[in-house]
Amino acid sequence: MDYYIYTNWQAKDKETNIIHKWTCGHCRMGLGKHSNAYKGENGVWIGAFKEIIQAENFAKLKLSDKKIEKCKVCLK
Ligand SMILES: [Zn+2]
Repeated sequence: MDYYIYTNWQAKDKETNIIHKWTCGHCRMGLGKHSNAYKGENGVWIGAFKEIIQAENFAKLKLSDKKIEKCKVCLK
């Protein structure tokens, strides 16, 4: 199972980066749910990570300006 982090770098009110499984409808293996969205315009997917702990550690070290959360759809 692979995991991805979604980080929205445009929305200043969004204070979280979110971890998803690659099978999540919001993630779709890094493609995102809006297949016609202009990629990278608002946010980017980071991954894949083989274990969720790797994604969490990466977010702690490299994306420390925001909190990290797990997707409420695919990782409850
Ligand atoms: Zn998800």
